[in-house]
Amino acid sequence: MFTFFTDRFGGVSAPPYDYLNFGDHVGDIPDNVAANRASLIARVGPTVFMNQVHGDTFHFVQSAAEQIPTCDALITTTAAINLAVQVADCIPLLIHADNVVAAVHVGRKGLVNDIALKVLDEMKRLEGKNFKAWIGPHICGSCYEVSEDVLQEVVSKYPTSRSQTSKGRHALDIARPLRELLSQRGVSVNESDICTVESMDYFSYRRDGVTGRSVGVISL
Ligand SMILES: [Zn+2]
Repeated sequence: MFTFFTDRFGGVSAPPYDYLNFGDHVGDIPDNVAANRASLIARVGPTVFMNQVHGDTFHFVQSAAEQIPTCDALITTTAAINLAVQVADCIPLLIHADNVVAAVHVGRKGLVNDIALKVLDEMKRLEGKNFKAWIGPHICGSCYEVSEDVLQEVVSKYPTSRSQTSKGRHALDIARPLRELLSQRGVSVNESDICTVESMDYFSYRRDGVTGRSVGVISL
């Protein structure tokens, strides 16, 4: 079993995707993305990536060779398959149970559409036990400035997501309610204190716009 989160170092991509970009939808040279993915696979074994759309659907992976449909979470009970979630500010959420693991993409939309809870329900249906979760590096509650409309949309469902920037503007902390929801359901949660906007070691869509994607990876 392992979990890890990549930063931007160790790959072959050129600016603004420097260096370890796993995103094949962000404008980077496809051969460079393929090389970055191949180097990860050479180190840790067969790894499955998603085409993520901030939706609420998950896919159960049975083979590392299968075609993965568009989705925002992967689940497997096969130890030989690593699951990857791509991010640049959103939360890479990794969930481990004794016999089943998941990689979940949780941004603002994913928090509101409860994809993490849907995945957790499915893992429980698959008789998962002893749940642990890792919330990887993500945009923090001081950096995620939003409009009043967006703030209201999220806090009306999850009030503890309400936050403020250092200048007192509306902001969202999407990790806080996620951590609370998981804890309430008996999941032991580890959370990174790295903010992807503040740390230049990470890709940040909010900071840089055109940029790469890091990954969180989990294996049973
Ligand atoms: Zn921050």
